[in-house]
Amino acid sequence: MKMKAAVLYEIGKPVKVEEVTLDEPQANEVLVKVAATGVCHTDLHFIKGDMPQPLPVVLGHEGAGVVEKVGPGVATLKPGDHVIMMVAYSCGKCRYCVSGKPAMCAEWLGYHMMGTLPSMTKRLKRGDQELNHFFSQSSFAQYAVVHERTAIKIREDAPLDVVCLLGCGTSTGVGAVLNTAGLRAGESIAIFGCGGVGLSAVMAAKLAGAGKLIAVDTVDLKLQKAKELGADYVINAAQENPQQRIMEITGGGADYSVECIGNVNVMAQAFSSIQNAGKCVVAGMAPLGAMLTIAPYELLLGKTILGCVQGDIRASIDIPKYVDLFMAGKLPIDKLVTKRIKGLEHINEALDDLEHGKVARAVIQL
Ligand SMILES: [Zn+2]
Ligand SMILES: [Zn+2]
Repeated sequence: MKMKAAVLYEIGKPVKVEEVTLDEPQANEVLVKVAATGVCHTDLHFIKGDMPQPLPVVLGHEGAGVVEKVGPGVATLKPGDHVIMMVAYSCGKCRYCVSGKPAMCAEWLGYHMMGTLPSMTKRLKRGDQELNHFFSQSSFAQYAVVHERTAIKIREDAPLDVVCLLGCGTSTGVGAVLNTAGLRAGESIAIFGCGGVGLSAVMAAKLAGAGKLIAVDTVDLKLQKAKELGADYVINAAQENPQQRIMEITGGGADYSVECIGNVNVMAQAFSSIQNAGKCVVAGMAPLGAMLTIAPYELLLGKTILGCVQGDIRASIDIPKYVDLFMAGKLPIDKLVTKRIKGLEHINEALDDLEHGKVARAVIQL
């Protein structure tokens, strides 16, 4: 079928919105009519060349929409189902998947690096030229063909132009608090970085009943947003030493800290801000090759530093749950959407706004 899509041909250049061809879904794949897609910093990283990706590529990895057609062997979805498309695929068969840790399934990375679907083939073309898929999804397009395991069925009354954010950054922040940290009511937590991931972490910490909920950033506007979403204390790290302030507020360090930026200096700060036997979760993605320096002495105090992918979510269980929490007004992820754009035509504008920090999150409605 013919459709419009946003294609990146060259690193550092604007994406081009043009007509491309999308082939029929094959075994275990579904065709999704994209209703909305988030515009995420990860898209920007690849446009700028911070991370490798075969070109040309149809970007976009936070899409939500309605299943229009299913390929042979699809057992979990049918036409008409509303779905959120996930940034990461999990195979369902490896030791991680079988042991209930599908976020650790490493299979998706290879497909992503090759620009294919999990079948190791591509469905996108422009003329005779094959186009690459982005995170086996490519949601900056009117339609997407994806593997059924990356399309999570959700309730039909949820607004797709809000819950699409759960495909990547938002579920990362929520999962980092609820799954990786495992925060319990009354415990203290310091969240470093109040962008889309960090603010989602703040919402989750509020929901879980954090005792002292501390948000750290260098931008007052973002700290204001964190306060609106439930932070009890905000610290502007450009004006005061966050570690020292957290020690004062908590009386010796927080039970948990979560780093949501991907900056190694902030990770070190987050680690030094927890109390003895506390846990520091790293949810941010540092550039490849960056190294982290922490004082090993602090490990003797029983402190733990924990990594995670997408907040250790089990997509098929957690995503419908997060949607329910949003619909019940308990996880107000709609507050993250600061700009809505109609159609793909203005996509470069949306990417520009994100780069210059003008929006928390932009959503494109298709
Ligand atoms: Zn993302
Ligand atoms: Zn697996």
